Amino acid sequence: MAAPNIDTIVSLAKRRGFVFPSSEVYGGLGSAWDYGPLGVELCNNVKQSWWRWLVYERDDIDGIDSSIILNRLVWKYSGHEATFNDWLIDCRKCKGRFRADKIVDNKCPSCGASDWTEARPFNTMLQTKLGAVADDDPTALAYLRPETAQGIFINFMNVQTTMRRKLPFGIAQVGKSFRNEVTPGNFILRTREFEQMEMEYFVSPSAEHSKLVDYWVEQYLEWFGSLGISRENLYLYEVPGEELAHYSKRTVDIMYRYFPEREKPWEELMGIAWRTDFDLSTHSKNKLDEEGKRVNPDSTEDLSYFDEPTKQRFYPHVIEPAAGVNRTVLAVLMDAYSERTNDKGETRVILKLSPQLAPIKAAILPLAKNKPEIVGMAKAIKRSLQPLLRAVYDDTGGIGKLYARQDEIGTPFCITVDHQSLEDEAVTVRDRDTWEQERIKITDLAEQLQKRLKPYPVAPPPEPI
Ligand code: ATP
Repeated sequence: MAAPNIDTIVSLAKRRGFVFPSSEVYGGLGSAWDYGPLGVELCNNVKQSWWRWLVYERDDIDGIDSSIILNRLVWKYSGHEATFNDWLIDCRKCKGRFRADKIVDNKCPSCGASDWTEARPFNTMLQTKLGAVADDDPTALAYLRPETAQGIFINFMNVQTTMRRKLPFGIAQVGKSFRNEVTPGNFILRTREFEQMEMEYFVSPSAEHSKLVDYWVEQYLEWFGSLGISRENLYLYEVPGEELAHYSKRTVDIMYRYFPEREKPWEELMGIAWRTDFDLSTHSKNKLDEEGKRVNPDSTEDLSYFDEPTKQRFYPHVIEPAAGVNRTVLAVLMDAYSERTNDKGETRVILKLSPQLAPIKAAILPLAKNKPEIVGMAKAIKRSLQPLLRAVYDDTGGIGKLYARQDEIGTPFCITVDHQSLEDEAVTVRDRDTWEQERIKITDLAEQLQKRLKPYPVAPPPEPI
């Protein structure tokens, strides 16, 4: 089973220290969220899994970390200054303001009326000013990046030459992006500050681009599966031509069932776009338009690529899988949510997180906290496991309560130290999903746990197309 709705996760996340509403001591800040002690671990584990899967386990992708604030000209030539707009409409009855493409059945979500103003564009890039300048100095204007991708494009040549890459190859980046969303909401699904995991896969202009989009869709379905997200909660949406971004010839969105309680349950988890050669050529000094004029008179570089086998120079095309960390975390939490009734008829929440994502891998619990030998042994086990995996020591309640708490935060193993442990040098290991208990020698513990904590495998990548 998965969570019945997002609200169930909001309350679990706050109760157990995954995600808190931001700035709560000042009444909050609409749609901003802070990640707590368990949330930060979960986010890190998602990012690490992604990085390991793309950058370490494949041979054709490098990682970078570019600036959040880039030269404003990047956003001029990428087209974001002119076109990174949401279309706004106002309800004439209640004066509410909404994103035109998110209105269902032409009805105002606040008052139900259908009397709208004309749609008008609103640029969603967040602005800031650089340096100690006058408020109205236009040369100081800068943007917080709305996507991490542009930082990759402007570093294409740096990476290609320093890493001696030949096509096809990819560049991956994970980091914060910012969008002045008109109607943020639904917990961490849509916020103004969020984190992206983007990869630009550079290929020849004669490659089979549409097949490559399908290839990356399949790869990501595999990866989401390895995070424990079940396939039936994912849905592929072929973005129709009129909805494509200005740079895209084909985009497939992977949608997740974020709203199982609604008639329309799907919302975008990530998108896989064929961005053509738009970005590399638009940032290049040598690209000419139809009239023979330079497309970009400000650029000092040419981001074209010389293909040795064909002796041709061209701007590579790009396939871009762009995923959100926060939306992945929400999907993972919703999918992992389950309930189980114990012998006493009490319903318990169990978060069946994939072991690689669980914030805490093992909790060491002393059965008697007033017995120094037991406490000492439990703490020593925690210390010995810590270099290998994230472990915690907890003696803040009775054993039933401690088990329930660890189940609810998705800890795969609880390790109980009891009186007998002092004699037989063994502990009880309890499995989160089955609640089965097993006695294991302390000397075998680390090896046993590591074996059981192995990530779900991702199928190896097929031969490149
Ligand atoms: P939407 O249509 O939902 O606004 P988008 O199509 O504009 O999303 P992309 O530009 O494709 O989104 O960004 C890639 C990914 O970044 C999205 O699939 C999503 O996971 C994440 N993302 C985008 N905007 C937000 C946001 N405001 N809050 C959280 N994650 C976001």
